[in-house]
Parts: sequence; C-alpha cells; structure tokens
Amino acid sequence: MSDCLFCKIVAGEIPAELLYEDDHVVAFKDINPQAPMHHLIIPKKHISTINDLTINDEALIGKMYLAAKALAEKEGVEDDGYRTVMNCGESGGQTVFHIHLHVLAGRNMQWPPG
Ligand code: 5GP
Ligand code: ZN
Repeated sequence: MSDCLFCKIVAGEIPAELLYEDDHVVAFKDINPQAPMHHLIIPKKHISTINDLTINDEALIGKMYLAAKALAEKEGVEDDGYRTVMNCGESGGQTVFHIHLHVLAGRNMQWPPG
C-alpha cells in the first residue's frame, strides 16, 4: 500500500534501524521505545489489522512469533522474559494500520496493561 508507513519501511523509502529481515518479515526498532528493548516485527505483505487475517496468513503469524523468539535470544532477554503485543483497532491502541508485533523487554511489565 503506497500510503502505509510500514510498507514504506519494507520498501526502504523510510529509514528504520533494521534488526532482522527474511522473505516474509522485517524487524526494526520502535521509534518511541516503551522499554529498554522495544522492537517491532511486521509482515512484508500489507495486512491492516488482525481482523484482516485469513487462513492463508496462518504460517506468516507463526513466522512473526519465531522472529520474536529469535530477537529475544539475540538480545539475551529470553530467560528474564519479555512481552509480545499486537494491538487491534482504535480502542485496542493500534495507531499504524499494518499489523506489527511489539516485543518489549528490559523492565518489569505490569498487568493489566493500560
Ligand atoms: P501501535 O500503536 O499501532 O500498536 O504501534 C505503532 C508503533 O509504531 C508505536 O510504538 C510507534 O512508536 C511506532 N512507530 C510509529 N512510527 C514509526 C516510524 O516511523 N518508525 C519506527 N521505527 N516506529 C514507528
Ligand atoms: Zn502496509
């Protein structure tokens, strides 16, 4: 999608601190980190929200979680723990409408989230 911020990051049209890339997903640092480690994992394919997922995206979502695990291991936070979040829709806190998995670590997370 030409006017999507995260599609522009995938295309290299907007710079980002890339951490991981394969044929299906890209990971980069969040521009406004909410924890000492705050990474985003996105599919290269544009999908606006969780509501737009289809059965064809089943493996893609799995790849996003495997990338989260790999990033946590790379950062050495896998034993201490980390939080993965995917917001959906306005009331869910989603502000960029290209799905993304937040991976946060380096501080104690609170529950319930705000
Ligand atoms: P959401 O609120 O949709 O769940 O999360 C969107 C995330 O994207 C936010 O944490 C925000 O800081 C991050 N973000 C917004 N614009 C940019 C950008 O241009 N570059 C990067 N790296 N992150 C961004
Ligand atoms: Zn997009």
